Amino acid sequence: MADSIYRAPKGTRDILWPDSARWRRLVEVFADVVGAAGYTHVVPPMFEHVDVFRRLGDATDVVAKEMYEFLDKGGRSVALRPEQTASVVRAFAEHRPVVPWKVWYAGPNFRYERAQKGRFRQFDQVGVEALGPDDPHLDAEVIALAWRFYERLGLRQVTLLLNSLGNPDDRARYVEALTAHFSADADALSAESRKTLTTNPLRVLDSPRTEDAELIDAAPQMPDFLSDDAATHFAGVRAALDALGIPYTVSPRLVRGLDYYLRTTFEFTAEALDAAQDAIGGGGRYDRLAEAMGAPPTPGVGFALGVDRTLLACDAEAVFDAPASAVDVFVVDTCGGDEAVLVTDEVRRAGLRADRAWDDRSMKAQMKAADRSGATVAVIIGEDERSGGNATVRDLRGDAGQETVARTDLIENLRTRLQ
Ligand code: AMP
Repeated sequence: MADSIYRAPKGTRDILWPDSARWRRLVEVFADVVGAAGYTHVVPPMFEHVDVFRRLGDATDVVAKEMYEFLDKGGRSVALRPEQTASVVRAFAEHRPVVPWKVWYAGPNFRYERAQKGRFRQFDQVGVEALGPDDPHLDAEVIALAWRFYERLGLRQVTLLLNSLGNPDDRARYVEALTAHFSADADALSAESRKTLTTNPLRVLDSPRTEDAELIDAAPQMPDFLSDDAATHFAGVRAALDALGIPYTVSPRLVRGLDYYLRTTFEFTAEALDAAQDAIGGGGRYDRLAEAMGAPPTPGVGFALGVDRTLLACDAEAVFDAPASAVDVFVVDTCGGDEAVLVTDEVRRAGLRADRAWDDRSMKAQMKAADRSGATVAVIIGEDERSGGNATVRDLRGDAGQETVARTDLIENLRTRLQ
């Protein structure tokens, strides 16, 4: 059935205040945390030539099955971005900035997914990418940034799962062993997993189906296939996380949905959420991607965190509340409204949030509006205040009462009350 034009399309929604304010604050906190580590903001386009995403690998679900792909009016094949690493690495290849190139981004992605709670067709992510060094300390820095960000939001029940997929050769040998293992007993697999086995054997490990569990449990494990080089790199990442006191669980079956990861991969899960939507972020190393985008071979590591899911986790832990009000000060003017024009402007210029009533309503109606606004204080200007060059300041939330102050002292008075 066609979606009604009076509703947001399936898998999308409007984010209204106060959720939108909380949303923006989350991005601000993120910018603050990663900005403190020298990551600079990058704003890639929301659509790219489809080939940019194809470089992520045809076995990557978001590319193979979920892309919003279309021909534009000029006949170009383009796609709305299903994720942002590809765009950032394409930008790296295009601009060739000096390395290390450490950047962060925030914005929507588009995936034609089955919409459900915490799973949307348009969803936002914040993330970082760091290109240049293949130093395991950089992997640890990237992981630590996500961890510190969650801490800043107040989240306490986050688990970090960590794995290494090895160097390309290690990964290839592992995929071969997995294919042999699953193929030997393919009849015991679910139909879905038999299909996955032909396209992306690693992803069979992700199958949630009970009939696959036994074979998955018996499957070869990635750590047994790591070369010395990859094992040393992984040990370096773990040692740095240990030194930082960031707890993690090594999860040999963590393969993640994006095909391009090598060596370090990681995922954050929120214990307070149901298993179906508990993945709140993830990332890893993608040392071959820059080359695939036409840049000189350049290692890279990064992560993307789901904004919607992170906020759901905050809800579940009752942290990072939405703001209680949109304004601090509400101006009530019973002299016709001209005073409110001036006073709101003055209060706003002083950096305080202020609103007012409209349409020259009665004092009672204006006080009701003041209350509804959620403001902490009302500034009331009647004829007496106007002629005396004063304003009455009334506490709307506590028991500080009201007082009349000279207009010249108003801002100072409000500042003290709102501290
Ligand atoms: P990915 O880019 O697939 O590695 O996903 C990184 C994070 O983005 C996940 O852990 C989720 O928190 C979030 N995410 C991915 N897909 C969706 C979606 N369709 N709706 C909401 N959040 C998503």
